[in-house]
Amino acid sequence: MSQFSLSEEQDQIFREADRIGRQELLPLAEKMDKDEWWPEEIMPRLGELGFLGVTIPEKFGGAGLNYLESGLILQAFSRYNHAFGLSWIAHDNLCANNIFNNGTELQKELFLPKLCSGEHVGCLGLTEPGAGSDALGSMNTTATKDGDNFLINGSKIYITNGPIADICVLYAKTDKKERSSKGITAFIIETKQPGFKVAQKLSKMGFRGSQTAELVFEDMLVSRENILGQEGEGHKVVMSGLDFERATIAPISVGISERALEISIEYAKSRTQFDQPIANFQMIQSYLAEMYVGIETMKALSWQVLSECGSVQAEEAGRGNIHAKAAASVMHCANICNEILDKAVQIHGGHGYMLETEINRLFRSTKLLEIGAGTTEVRKMIIAKELLK
Ligand SMILES: Cc1cc2nc3c(=O)[nH]c(=O)nc-3n(C[C@H](O)[C@H](O)[C@H](O)COP(=O)(O)OP(=O)(O)OC[C@H]3O[C@@H](n4cnc5c(N)ncnc54)[C@H](O)[C@@H]3O)c2cc1C
Repeated sequence: MSQFSLSEEQDQIFREADRIGRQELLPLAEKMDKDEWWPEEIMPRLGELGFLGVTIPEKFGGAGLNYLESGLILQAFSRYNHAFGLSWIAHDNLCANNIFNNGTELQKELFLPKLCSGEHVGCLGLTEPGAGSDALGSMNTTATKDGDNFLINGSKIYITNGPIADICVLYAKTDKKERSSKGITAFIIETKQPGFKVAQKLSKMGFRGSQTAELVFEDMLVSRENILGQEGEGHKVVMSGLDFERATIAPISVGISERALEISIEYAKSRTQFDQPIANFQMIQSYLAEMYVGIETMKALSWQVLSECGSVQAEEAGRGNIHAKAAASVMHCANICNEILDKAVQIHGGHGYMLETEINRLFRSTKLLEIGAGTTEVRKMIIAKELLK
């Protein structure tokens, strides 16, 4: 039996997530893309179904699942509505799972139940206008001590769920004298508090239903009790969180690719040229075969790495084997997904170039997978650094 065969229970979770994806998420996808629309009722609905806070223990309202199971759910959701999948993982992994891994008991009790029920939506704010790949070293957002509180000033950009979030895991510089990645602290921010502003909702070429924003903080007062992890140790929260994020986000690429193959097969069978279905042509068959092989390699690597994440403690992540493997998984999946979608549109011919088609919606989204959660170049840097140690 292969190392990452799914257990009966995991298979059941996967099938249930697929059913929810097909029945509840697919019908929302076209309007979300066309109008950059966010269906507000969807998070509480997913909470009701037990599909929020999936890696959070049941005592805080979550489902108590592991990273592999979280990845499987994302893969299934992303087959039918990848924009929702992106928002879901930003909420569930970047925000809720980070709070669970690094928060105090009180913070977990305070913030996790509403994130698990869908009453609250979560986001994570790391990237800034001047700090992307060098997010830690170039960070300009500051948290200045004000008695027992901190005053936050600065801005964050490209933040998934930014326009709709209630809770934000935010990184800010608490020690301006420290250079490079040091002197950064993670905070749990409540966006209803004064000083927080959505400066602009950003319009994107893909993943359009997933809401993205530039956030601005102007003298936002935050209590010391909202520090996530230790003061000045935000780099540890970032680095361990990013490994789990990269491993868990990789299956978005798998889900999109599986759907692309499914609709490409249907199209190849139904589209007739030269008096026969284009599926009869060997060059089309070659594309389909290559797409299938790509999907199988993505599944093999991403599931394997996710299953390894289960045995890594949060404080062990951000370096070593899991650091390189998480980067390898997300990089491989993103690169293969882009190749697959290129072939899928080719199979669809002119029809695939039309904005309103489903295959076009998938194609327009895939580039982000080589940019978000660290670019391909950053992923290569991480892997090479570990290899050359
Ligand atoms: C839709 C979307 C959603 C996002 N969601 C979030 C979110 O929820 N939270 C969040 O904090 N961030 C989010 N991001 C930000 C994302 O993580 C960054 O865009 C990404 O890390 C790259 O940063 P940048 O865009 O500033 O590119 P830059 O860092 O400016 O990079 C530009 C180019 O230079 C290359 N480059 C940079 N440094 C090097 C180097 N040393 N060697 C070789 N090449 C290099 C990069 O690889 C890239 O090709 C999101 C981005 C997008 C587009």
